[in-house]
Amino acid sequence: MARSGLTRSVYALHEGVFSVGMDKVFHRLAPGEEAAKGALKLSLNPFLILQDDAVILLDPGMGEFTQDGSVEVMRQNLAEVGLTLEDVTDVVISHLHLDHIGGLAHQEDGYWQLTFPEATHWINRDEIARVEAKGTFYGERQTEFFFFVTSRASIERVETGAIPLRGWSSRHLGGHTSHSVAWVIGEDSPSEPTYVMAGDVVGSKGALLRRYQANYDVDPQQASDAREAIKKEAFEKGWIFMAYHEATAPFMRLTESSTSGYTVEAVEMDQGVPVVNPDQA
Ligand SMILES: [Zn+2]
Repeated sequence: MARSGLTRSVYALHEGVFSVGMDKVFHRLAPGEEAAKGALKLSLNPFLILQDDAVILLDPGMGEFTQDGSVEVMRQNLAEVGLTLEDVTDVVISHLHLDHIGGLAHQEDGYWQLTFPEATHWINRDEIARVEAKGTFYGERQTEFFFFVTSRASIERVETGAIPLRGWSSRHLGGHTSHSVAWVIGEDSPSEPTYVMAGDVVGSKGALLRRYQANYDVDPQQASDAREAIKKEAFEKGWIFMAYHEATAPFMRLTESSTSGYTVEAVEMDQGVPVVNPDQA
């Protein structure tokens, strides 16, 4: 695969745009379709990073847990870049919410299967301990899913600050879940861009533009403080944000800082870093 001289290529694998209302079900929207009244319009963008010989997914999407979900969207998106589910060597997680990890396993003939059977799964150790201690994960089926994954997948429990993969390190954010992290990718290589993926602490363009507290965060004040801190660091260092829930342009940079906030610019991902299937539902 051509890498245009870069040693690291970054892709957004668009899983779809969804309307999410009171029932918490992710209903797929057709291109241009608006969310139901009172419902949120949410995109899902698992990120694919190719570096050295590694094929890395950063939050693998919701998989079977959307209303019409299946493993096929991920299979097709990987096929677009010549890869299979079995080629994935590493899966890195921002936090343990279903819309970020539902794609880790799927059912075949009534049995759970790991979606990325060859992959090492990197999860913050306090974040996984949080869910294990609770003993449940959403409903019955999701709990079965979660404990299947943690018992069968190759899981590495990452300490904050560790470097699990070349150029990858995590920052503790908390706030959204008590141990959600930001992944910073590329600080090892000054000649290439550095990316930051901060899960749902910075999940959309709105999170970059505004200062706010959100009631979906477990600790809204902590999430807000962590969001402003990572925005400040990213602005000063010129990092590119990867926004998991942003629909059309998930890669963004902060270009100006003023008393009212930051100016946000979409980053065109050319040179071997395209967005896959940007308009395909
Ligand atoms: Zn989310």
